Amino acid sequence: MARTIEPDCRQCRREGCKLFLKGERCTTKKCAMERRPVIPGQHGNSRRRVTFSEYGSQLREKQKVKRMYGVLEKQFRDYYEEAERMKGVTGENMLSLIERRLDNVVYRMGIGASRSHCRQIVNHGHITVNGKRVNIPSYQVKVGDVIAVKENKQELESFKAIKGMKIVMPKWLEFDTNTLTGKIVALPARDDIDADIKEQLIIELYSR
Ligand code: SF4
Repeated sequence: MARTIEPDCRQCRREGCKLFLKGERCTTKKCAMERRPVIPGQHGNSRRRVTFSEYGSQLREKQKVKRMYGVLEKQFRDYYEEAERMKGVTGENMLSLIERRLDNVVYRMGIGASRSHCRQIVNHGHITVNGKRVNIPSYQVKVGDVIAVKENKQELESFKAIKGMKIVMPKWLEFDTNTLTGKIVALPARDDIDADIKEQLIIELYSR
């Protein structure tokens, strides 16, 4: 499966903001954006731009969201094209489609520490959708789908650690940390996505 090979913290430094790619570390003082918030490379400090051209801001916003969700260019453009064919606001549709990826849902439910960790959990076949094992991170969930940690994997240390925990999650999801089973109760709306994303810039970039 194709994925970006650039180290996680380097991606945050490139975008100049926290993308929360490393789980717990992202909220500690060890975070590279706390210790060294400059563009990677020898001339990082001097290359930090304060303002971007219109195209530059659009491009940076697209790269930021791609990196945040761990999606490559081709798939990201596919989300845009599908969103454009849907009724409603294209930018909001696009974010909703990306949010509904199975790896993101597993992350939102608090089953893994970061999206890349959750992608691995899905890839390894630890997650079921409506009782059937699904190992495709980009799988699109629907309202009513029941997402669970596979019964015979629930005794793994990383899953035992979240049993009984209180996890705050968006209102479109439900998750019981005792049974490690959750449900999609609605489609994600724009105000369910709390990350600082200016999706309009991405739409403007792709519709050039
Ligand atoms: Fe980004 Fe997390 Fe690394 Fe901080 S620790 S730079 S938020 S990936």
